[in-house]
Amino acid sequence: MTKLTVRTEETADGRVASQDQTGRGDRAQDRGVETFRTHLRGALLQPGDGGYDDARTIHNGMIDRQPALILRCAGVQTWLTGVRFAREHDLLVSVRAGGHGMPGYAVCEGGLMLDLSGMKGVQVDPEQRTVRAEAGVTWSEFDHETQAFGLATTGGVVGSTGIAGLTLGGGHGFLMRCHG
Ligand SMILES: Cc1cc2nc3c(=O)[nH]c(=O)nc-3n(C[C@H](O)[C@H](O)[C@H](O)COP(=O)(O)OP(=O)(O)OC[C@H]3O[C@@H](n4cnc5c(N)ncnc54)[C@H](O)[C@@H]3O)c2cc1C
Repeated sequence: MTKLTVRTEETADGRVASQDQTGRGDRAQDRGVETFRTHLRGALLQPGDGGYDDARTIHNGMIDRQPALILRCAGVQTWLTGVRFAREHDLLVSVRAGGHGMPGYAVCEGGLMLDLSGMKGVQVDPEQRTVRAEAGVTWSEFDHETQAFGLATTGGVVGSTGIAGLTLGGGHGFLMRCHG
């Protein structure tokens, strides 16, 4: 597996991230990351970039991992490009949706974190009584859109949890006893 990790160093100014294996400081990797960046719709963040620390912060404040790259996906194409880049470079990958998973699997140490939390599309079909929602939607955002049509489905109790994690493993909510 390619080592795309973050090493930290003490300097006179305090603790800073060294970018020797993150793509900066290594010219070949630098070019690879810059080429990757040109194919994206969405920010690609590295340690030291504005927004990097916010993006790697999840609900469980004890999780303090540092991905080498964070891809804030604006849509499916960017997400696919990220998966292909990770495959080509044999990178460790993590996927972040609502960021409420307690073990913090959403954030990897080194590697590429695919941040889906900006993907907020929700399409309700009132006639079919169905809804299609993107992976970054939270439970309250989902409810907000379905309730406009008098629709609801089983999910979580706490509105800030992600529908992605609730769908994959969870779904204990107010309607569970009535509707499973
Ligand atoms: C404050 C709080 C309240 C909660 N309340 C409830 C509740 O009322 N009912 C209930 O059932 N559960 C509840 N939970 C548990 C919650 O449902 C799970 O922790 C859920 O996994 C969180 O999903 P997420 O998308 O927010 O988290 P994330 O951490 O972003 O994702 C959870 C896991 O799913 C993976 N994942 C996310 N998206 C994808 C994807 N598109 N493809 C593949 N893998 C993906 C992540 O890598 C991670 O391993 C609560 C948790 C918290 C912290």
